[in-house]
Amino acid sequence: MVIISEVKERKRFGIFKSLSFRIAVLVTVVGILAGMSMQIVILRSYESSAVDSRTADIQNQCTILCNQLGAQENLAEITSEAILSELVQLSNIYSGRVMIIDPSYHIVQDTYDTDVGKTIVSRDVFRCFSGEGTTTYDADNRYIEVTAPITKTESEEVAGVLLVSVSTDAIADTVTTLWRISGTVLLAILAVAVLAGALLGWVMARPFREISDSVEAVTEGYQEEYRAVDAYTETEEISESIDSMLNRMQALDESRQEFVSNVSHELKTPLTSMKVLADSLLAQDDVPPELYREFMQDLSEEIDRENKIINDLLTLVRMDKTSNAMDISSVDINTLVERILKQLKPIAASHNIELVFESIRPVTAQVDESKLSQAITNLVENAIKYNHDNGWVRVKLDADVKDFYLEVADSGMGIPQSELDQIFERFYRGDKSHSSEISGNGLGLSIARSAAVLHQGSIHVKSQVGEGTTFTMRIPLVYVP
Ligand code: ADP
Repeated sequence: MVIISEVKERKRFGIFKSLSFRIAVLVTVVGILAGMSMQIVILRSYESSAVDSRTADIQNQCTILCNQLGAQENLAEITSEAILSELVQLSNIYSGRVMIIDPSYHIVQDTYDTDVGKTIVSRDVFRCFSGEGTTTYDADNRYIEVTAPITKTESEEVAGVLLVSVSTDAIADTVTTLWRISGTVLLAILAVAVLAGALLGWVMARPFREISDSVEAVTEGYQEEYRAVDAYTETEEISESIDSMLNRMQALDESRQEFVSNVSHELKTPLTSMKVLADSLLAQDDVPPELYREFMQDLSEEIDRENKIINDLLTLVRMDKTSNAMDISSVDINTLVERILKQLKPIAASHNIELVFESIRPVTAQVDESKLSQAITNLVENAIKYNHDNGWVRVKLDADVKDFYLEVADSGMGIPQSELDQIFERFYRGDKSHSSEISGNGLGLSIARSAAVLHQGSIHVKSQVGEGTTFTMRIPLVYVP
């Protein structure tokens, strides 16, 4: 049972739980994440390649300049106008600063002219004096620093260091502009992702909506048969399950209808007889007391018959309930069978039928005593009912480690092969020729089988017409709910 408040709650939050919504969110998130990662990767790689190419340019310029400077006598007083103008050009082109440092770490040339004569303490300059040029990129302070050793043309010794520091503001500005543009593009991607997600979610969830529409149409009765949806393997599987469930429900409904019509018929038969008996008595005047007695006797028998049908039906209904209704206890089966046989002995004796109990071993099992005794009673009663006068009924009890076996064999009329499949059905009565002479309502074996099944056991039958029948009931010794 679904509580109404739960349904309301489910409806309120239904949209968030729906598959379409989840697909839409997923597509949007994936779209945004992909866009953002692309944006980050592209801009980062642009920045690093711009810095690399700028650094390589400056290094080239430095190498050329260092070669020319190597030929100079005194780095503090450069005589070549060409070199001086190249230094200025270098600083102008890259909007940076060019300095020359002598081996005593004094700045001897500075295109900014502010620090000439000052001492510079820098690890890069120090390393450069050992003959190894360096490059440094400081992203936070936005500059590239390149050092190159100035080697004397004749002696190959390091006479100074050329230090170029160049601002990367231009690159940073381009990157900022690109962030802004790509941010706008990302917003557009977000809008497209939301739309695409919503559309995809709607399209992908459609087969599931079709399933629920089709089930609803069958439930409401617009449609006879469920229409399978084979868009996905999953919907195909769900459709198959729904189909088999509907078939089972249909079969159950048919069997219920048949059961109801059988019950009504069976209950009506004794009532009709009673009505005929009563009416015929009422129609006559001065009925002799013997006739009254005889009719009353017949009426009483019909009432007994009606009573038996109702009791059997109630037993069947109880058996139909789930195993929760089982009242399990440890039962001595030998004693149980002996008690049942003792009760039935007078009926057997009235037809001079020999009733024998053959107990192979003592058996104690966990069973519902009342249901099991009902089943055994029905089997033995049948063995007596469908027997010949002077015949025999043998009941054998045996067991292995797992189950016990109760065999009820008789020397009776037997059951035709064609009927063996039907005898366990409710209200089924065998060959019509004997059913009118032998009392019964066709519920005995149904009850016996239900009892066996509830104990997770089974009943099998073997029969030869004219020779006799053997029913074997197998019941586990231990009941597992
Ligand atoms: P009922 O005995 O009331 O007819 P059951 O369900 O007990 O109903 O049995 C169904 C049918 O199976 C019987 O009508 C009968 O034809 C057949 N049957 C059952 N037990 C035996 C038996 N021991 N020997 C021959 N036929 C039997």
